[in-house]
Order: sequence, then structure tokens, then C-alpha cells
Amino acid sequence: MRDFSTDHHWLSLNTATVRKSEGVEQPLSVILDACARHGIRAISPWRDQVHAVGLDKIAAQVKALGLQLSGYCRGGFYPALDTKGLQDALIDTRRAIDEAKTLNAPCLVMVVGALPGALQGKALHKDIALSRAQVRDGIAASLEYANSVGMPLAIEPLHPMQAAERACVNTLEHALDLCDELDPAQTANGHVSLGVALDVYHTWWDPKLYGQIARAGKRILAFHACDWLTPTTDLLNDRGMMGDGVIEIPKIRQAVEAQGFAGFSEVEIFSSANWWKRSMDEVLQTCIERHKTAV
Ligand code: ZN
Repeated sequence: MRDFSTDHHWLSLNTATVRKSEGVEQPLSVILDACARHGIRAISPWRDQVHAVGLDKIAAQVKALGLQLSGYCRGGFYPALDTKGLQDALIDTRRAIDEAKTLNAPCLVMVVGALPGALQGKALHKDIALSRAQVRDGIAASLEYANSVGMPLAIEPLHPMQAAERACVNTLEHALDLCDELDPAQTANGHVSLGVALDVYHTWWDPKLYGQIARAGKRILAFHACDWLTPTTDLLNDRGMMGDGVIEIPKIRQAVEAQGFAGFSEVEIFSSANWWKRSMDEVLQTCIERHKTAV
């Protein structure tokens, strides 16, 4: 396993981690400058943050600062009530693939979606099997386009607490089943074309985790780090700083790296009651320190 204790060479910042600082929404351009200031050499930005500033501007800034991407968030959200909704999701994911390409991302992170309407507050049906079938078909369609432009897709299984609103793919095993079904050859254009984004927050609890990491092999395209707090007070926005919770992060990283993963370790913390209230410099400094001691 790589030694992270002396520097933060392999730290990437998922830009949602400082999307707000001291409670105020921060432009991505400001976040990128802060990364450069702190010697953070990689990021994983969110589409809405990119759109708010402008794709071309962000692409130019990323280049000027010499930043790399560890991923691009996100495509997916396939399930819908009707054909038009399904079609719109494909078009939107196609756009996300193009943006990821413009930003030179190594993969597009796929949050696949779940029950239509649930995220907006009212599920329009309860048929999760239907949603899962739509997700499978959606990924298959997106993969065709992604392969044509050479952009790997990384399915991110989300914790089952998100199964209604955000993703009906909830375990690494389920994500890998989809990979095996839709991409049995494992490669296109010399790279893994369909793989997984492994987020410790979503997967740490799974009794099959280590077996499935071994099964994943080179399909692991991204590694996301934060911590699980006890108690957790919000299903989405109460993620902990590495070292403050109960996840065996180094143990998971060791298993991931044993499969040959040698990419960035991406810090991704949504924290409305704590870290989003602090200054950006304090959060980044803490991420850097904890990356050395708790990742
Ligand atoms: Zn993640």
C-alpha cells in the first residue's frame, strides 16, 4: 500500500467538500484556486458547479493550474415514468460524458437514480425492480456512446438508505454484476470501459465488501474517502472527516490497492452542520492532515 503519511500527493478534492464555506455557496473557480494554494493537485467537480462558472472557463483554469481530475460527478439518474423521461436521462448523461471529456476526467461517476419523483419528495411508483431494469438499459445505452469517445463509466453503488431517492444500485456486488453483464470483455480502446467508484461511506458496512473488491480487480476506477459518524444525523449531508468515524479506511484502501488501484484518493464530505460552516482553508488543511493520518 502506498505511504500517504508524509505528503498529500495522492489527495484529490471532491469539490462538494467545500461547496459551501462559512455557509456561503462558493464558486468552483474559487475552490480551484484554493486547491492550488494548498498543493492539492487533483479534483472531482460536480456538473452544477462547473455550469455555474462555465465549462470552458473551468477547463481553462484546470489547465492553467495544472490540476488533474479524479472523476467527474455525475451521470445517470435513468429511471423515469415515460419514454421521454428515459430519453432525457440518456441525453443528459451523454452531455455529462462530453463535459468529462473536455475536462480530461479519467471517468464519469454514475449515480444511477432510483424511484422517479422520490428525490423531489414523492415517489411516482414503488417498483424498484422496474427502476433497476431501466438503470441497466440506461447504462448499456450510455456505454455505447462513452466507448465511442473513450470515456470510462464508473458506477457508484450508494448506501441502501439512498435506494429510493438517488441510486437503486446499493452494493458493490450489484454494481459488478452490471459491469459483468454489460461489459463482459472488461475493456474498450485499451482501458476499462465500465467499472465502479468505490466510496467507503457507501460500502464500509457490507459483509461482502472485501470479497467484492477482490472480484472488482481493475474495474475499480475511483476511491472516495470520508467517515461514518455515530450518530449520523442526516442521510445525505452528515458525512464525517476521515478519522472522526467508524470506517476502517486504511484497511479498505489496502484492499483496493492490492487490486492494482494506483489513482487518487478522493475526499468527499457533504457536511451542512459542520464542515460547510467552516472556512475553506481550514477544511482543506484538515483534509490534508487527515489524509496523512487516517486514510
Ligand atoms: Zn462518492
